[in-house]
Amino acid sequence: MRLLRCPTCRARVYFENDGCLTCGAALGFRPDTFEMVAVGAADGAWERCANVSMAGCNWVVPTGGGGSTLCRSCSLTRTRPADDDAEGRARFAEAEAAKRRLVAQLVDLGLPIVGFDEVDDGLGFDLLSSHFDEVVTGHEDGIVTVDLAEADDAHRERVRQELGEAYRTVLGHFRHEVGHYYWTVLVEGTDAIDGFRALFGDERADYGEAMSSHYGGGPPLGWEADHVSAYATMHPWEDWAETFAHLLHLRDTLQTAVESGVTVVDPDGGAPTPPPGGDGDFDVMVREWVGLTRALNELNRSMGEPDLYPFVLAPAVIAKLAFVDRLVRDASLTVAR
Ligand SMILES: [Zn+2]
Ligand SMILES: [Zn+2]
Ligand SMILES: [Zn+2]
Repeated sequence: MRLLRCPTCRARVYFENDGCLTCGAALGFRPDTFEMVAVGAADGAWERCANVSMAGCNWVVPTGGGGSTLCRSCSLTRTRPADDDAEGRARFAEAEAAKRRLVAQLVDLGLPIVGFDEVDDGLGFDLLSSHFDEVVTGHEDGIVTVDLAEADDAHRERVRQELGEAYRTVLGHFRHEVGHYYWTVLVEGTDAIDGFRALFGDERADYGEAMSSHYGGGPPLGWEADHVSAYATMHPWEDWAETFAHLLHLRDTLQTAVESGVTVVDPDGGAPTPPPGGDGDFDVMVREWVGLTRALNELNRSMGEPDLYPFVLAPAVIAKLAFVDRLVRDASLTVAR
């Protein structure tokens, strides 16, 4: 996350804030310029997104612009819980908060965001309560579905333990599922498909069979050598989505560290061995990431908490991350900001 400042007094404000704690100005987030702007100021240029109470949204829309009264993030939500589902609505607000972080990062990375209301198979979100009906978190034809029970900490932790996962968060779900969407944008039907298959495998492998064998027999022994998670071993699509999510974890957290003035010095006096598979910028980024996550894990252990980043990036995984990073950077060059 980039460092944000109050437009009035220049004090630091956080992405989730709706006002400045220093000067008291009412603020909202403007995604296209990635800055906090005054809401209800004399020039009246910006007003709050219509989802301010429903989703606790702190983003803005142009005042009286004749356009949508929903912001760039909220307008991507196609379905939300019914008004009389109080529990679903509370979790919906938590999920929307995670989704705003996701959408802000997609904007910041310069990835194309074309909504479901603009084109067939455009990006959209169904945030559904599984309290009454079964909901399967996943992606299909541009629509990301998230089971809002995942916004309940007790539920999510129980599932995490049942599945033996090292990491499970609502933001992580969003980053994984949107990864499936960006596979259709960045890889499917493009020149990147051969490179994808060389690294991740052939996605034409039967998905149903892959799922049965994953849940029947578990991941293959030694999967850590070439997959970022056990789930990534199930099918090339899942490997891509897991890797895509990790790239977003890495890019966001490193950016936050830099913007917050955090520098990590390698206690051994040298940088870790440069990983293979990336270009210069990517190699530097991974070295910084490895150093930072080691420090962050140690900080968490000092507080008796589990590791912040419970993953090991093997060289084959780094090569996959480099591939995704290259496609994301190339896409950002072609998108007008
Ligand atoms: Zn201020
Ligand atoms: Zn909004
Ligand atoms: Zn998936």
